[in-house]
Amino acid sequence: MKLFISGEWVDSASRETFPVANPATGEVVDYAAKGARDDAKKAIDAAKDAFKKWSLTASAERARILYGLAEVVRESKEALGRLLTQEQGKPLRESILEIESFANTCDYYAGLATKLHGTSLVITPGKVHADIVKVPVGVVGAIIPWNFPISLLGWKLAPALAAGNTLVVKPSTNTPLTDLKMGELANKAGVPAGVVNIVSGPGSVVGSELLENPDVRKIAFTGETATGREIMRAASSQIKRITLELGGSDPMIVCDDAELDLAVEGALWGRFRNCGQSCTSVKRLFLFRKIAAEFLEKFLAGVREIRVGNGLEPGVMMGPLNNGAQRKIVEEMVQDAVEKGAQIMTGGDRPRGREFESGFFYMPTVLTHVDYSSRIVREECFGPALPVFTVDDLEEAIEMANDTVYGLGSSIWTKDIAKARMAAERLEAGTIWINSPPIARPEVPFGGFKQSGFGRELGLEGLEHYLETKSIHKDISGNQKLWKYPP
Ligand code: NAD
Repeated sequence: MKLFISGEWVDSASRETFPVANPATGEVVDYAAKGARDDAKKAIDAAKDAFKKWSLTASAERARILYGLAEVVRESKEALGRLLTQEQGKPLRESILEIESFANTCDYYAGLATKLHGTSLVITPGKVHADIVKVPVGVVGAIIPWNFPISLLGWKLAPALAAGNTLVVKPSTNTPLTDLKMGELANKAGVPAGVVNIVSGPGSVVGSELLENPDVRKIAFTGETATGREIMRAASSQIKRITLELGGSDPMIVCDDAELDLAVEGALWGRFRNCGQSCTSVKRLFLFRKIAAEFLEKFLAGVREIRVGNGLEPGVMMGPLNNGAQRKIVEEMVQDAVEKGAQIMTGGDRPRGREFESGFFYMPTVLTHVDYSSRIVREECFGPALPVFTVDDLEEAIEMANDTVYGLGSSIWTKDIAKARMAAERLEAGTIWINSPPIARPEVPFGGFKQSGFGRELGLEGLEHYLETKSIHKDISGNQKLWKYPP
């Protein structure tokens, strides 16, 4: 697949490509153009040029186009979903839900496009007035990871376009294909040429150009905390606006008065959806001592029923990890925990059988007796392995939950809503779910405390990050009564 720049499919300047492999089979799905600095520059120039007109387009027109994009994407959800599963690995049903979530985000921000407004102040009646208006930031560089290539594109593209910005998108080299397709669909929906450009290629090349080119005014980044640090450093030289959505190590607390069956389902969903490769996956599970044995029994039964396989096969509940490097890290984390005394309750290995030989599969894994210094606790475990802890009370649970450098999400399960609300105040995380697995919704701001990033995506707050505030002072008195030189 070629690069999508200025409304056209173009080869990279070098004509180089790279293979995109199916993580379930190892087969090449397609080749993507390997963008270089010059390609990124060309896309930035196109976005800068398109900004002149797009930023002056009526908000109702931008809304109409975004609604149209949502529809075009929904019409293609089956084909897009298949492609996403082929390059990312997640089960087809999850891929289709992801495509739908992109469309839902477009709908939400289409609605907001016509509600942007500033304020007007009367400072001195009849003499000095001021208008405070919101204006788009300019060209936005959107850097996307491989775990949710489409929904996370939507989180950036939809508010950026609603606010009147233009974009250069850099997908992950593991999952560039579906993102590249979205450029074409955007144009089909009426997004003018140059407003959305997609350049696949390495972060160190295409990403660096986005960071260093002064015509890019904002970087919207989702990815690892370590990469986020580099982005922050690089963005500082031009004081670029940045939003960083980084890693997490989300705790899930199950109290002794929780609806256990519901909480078990929540933990299965929370840890094993997308093969555990979600920033808000449940990464540490805390069970009140009184219900720990019963919960664990039900949970392990559920985990053992998870059918692992190629995401395109019907009935498969969990696909492979997206890439070999990621699986290796998960294996090393499990190994490290075991060396420090952990017990593997289920999983802890690759599945056996010919159908698994060429993919990055790993069995859903549950560990108990995990030492808190283990890597699986201290770092982000981006895969299907879960350490489980027993706690005496809420005090202990909250203390352990907060004992991490991350602060993305947290969940608490209890029938006592007052207790849950109190815990929500004390949990150090950008999002708290009460009796719910981690589900993001377009209406609700999303982002992290501590080293999970800063800034917010989604919701009204998400839109703010794509707008500058411009203050316009107006002296309508027509004379110099209010000021004189020298003052
Ligand atoms: P990653 O940081 O390796 O890569 C993310 C993107 O950044 C890719 O497109 C990559 O090519 C690019 N990149 C890498 N180095 C770069 C550089 N020096 N300059 C510019 N761009 C660069 O992350 P990943 O492995 O693709 O994604 C998984 C991570 O994303 C996990 O840590 C996960 O928790 C996090 N994540 C966070 C959220 C959130 O909203 N907080 C959501 C999803 C994923």
